[in-house]
Amino acid sequence: MGNDFLCDPKNCTGCGSCANACPKACIQMRENHEGFPYPVTDMEQCVRCGKCGKVCHVLHEADKHEGSFYMCWNNNREILKKSSSGGVFTALAMTVLNRNGVVYGAYQDFEQKCVYHTVVRSENRLDKLRKSKYCQSDMKAVCREICELLKADTPVLFCGTACQVAGLLSYLKNSPAITKLELLYTVDVLCHGVASQKTVNAFLKSKERMKHKKIKRYYFRVKDTGVGWKSGCTRVRLVYEDDSVYVAPLGADTFFMGFNNNLFLRESCYRCRYCGTARISDFTIADYWGVPEESLPEGQTRYGVSVMTVNTEKAEALMPELKDSMYIEKINPDIAVANNRSFKKPNDRPEKRDEYFRLLDTTDYDTLIRKLLRKTYWKGKVKALIGAETIKKIKKIIKRN
Ligand SMILES: Cc1cc2nc3c(=O)[nH]c(=O)nc-3n(C[C@H](O)[C@H](O)[C@H](O)COP(=O)(O)OP(=O)(O)OC[C@H]3O[C@@H](n4cnc5c(N)ncnc54)[C@H](O)[C@@H]3O)c2cc1C
Repeated sequence: MGNDFLCDPKNCTGCGSCANACPKACIQMRENHEGFPYPVTDMEQCVRCGKCGKVCHVLHEADKHEGSFYMCWNNNREILKKSSSGGVFTALAMTVLNRNGVVYGAYQDFEQKCVYHTVVRSENRLDKLRKSKYCQSDMKAVCREICELLKADTPVLFCGTACQVAGLLSYLKNSPAITKLELLYTVDVLCHGVASQKTVNAFLKSKERMKHKKIKRYYFRVKDTGVGWKSGCTRVRLVYEDDSVYVAPLGADTFFMGFNNNLFLRESCYRCRYCGTARISDFTIADYWGVPEESLPEGQTRYGVSVMTVNTEKAEALMPELKDSMYIEKINPDIAVANNRSFKKPNDRPEKRDEYFRLLDTTDYDTLIRKLLRKTYWKGKVKALIGAETIKKIKKIIKRN
């Protein structure tokens, strides 16, 4: 018999709150054949206390709040350069560090090739957490750690995907820290969905084969090529062992071809309950895609423009302090919502997803993308060959005539 306290695996987001809650430590998060973590229960050790089911956020609806929308960016250009979008995470993190608090976020371990959530206690360590990693982050024992910190009256900021925030809140509401939740600030990165580490590794292996050398570092966003944040920043920067750097031309990045076509997202991402404008965290941070450029200072789109939604009174109370480090302007949500699907609904599950995971173990990643996303792949190749700017000009001429 399996663990019938837990949710249907199709809906499990892998937040790990069940494993954190198990008093017998008999739930382990293990990767399935797609490379995503799922709870596995040792039924011989299980005492059927049901604590795992009580903290499962999938089984218990979370409170949601319609927030106010703001356009913002960090006033410090150096921080902006180091951040994926408008450097909002850093500004939020600083408010809690300034209160002698700690910050949790996702860390990319290049040695072990994995992403996991960890804690940072000082400003000069924040770089550890900056930048979007487009694969699922392992929550490890974060729920238990945050519970202890709150019990000791330490302010905590947690930044992650909305399902991770939901898992954490669900855990804490069933813990002795329930009376200390005013010390917790939650921030979710508006999320398209996550890939698995297995997919990222397959992509990296394909790129190592292409160049016949090892990759030592990789970043999922590039702001310093093309016209910066706005256009084509979602490309992977690969740093090889000899320090040479490769960034695929605009439109030709095979990782983002798969990611943006939703080919290999976690099963639960296609039915995500946390999309939409009603949010569960104190703050939601996102890219301000579609921002009207006329309203911006010259060159701002090179560095990054974010949307921040302020969803709770607790978040609202931090606004005066945030205004010291960020440009913040209240906006009508229409453009931000229209240009960011995650503010509306989850992505569709493509039929080819099953074939992708069936072939992943035996097929080179790039070959698989070429086979399954033929049109996108060749479009990207042509775009890279002719150049995005030339294509834009051709389109303009066709439109005019
Ligand atoms: C998987 C994923 C999907 C996203 N999808 C969208 C989208 O569809 N639309 C949109 O507008 N924005 C999306 N974002 C958010 C966007 O990329 C920026 O991360 C966000 O706007 C914050 O930018 P920043 O400059 O303020 O933060 P940064 O300084 O770049 O910090 C990023 C923060 O995100 C956290 N983080 C990074 N990777 C992960 C991860 N794998 N899991 C959990 N937390 C993580 C880090 O802990 C850090 O706190 C996504 C981010 C991720 C990680």
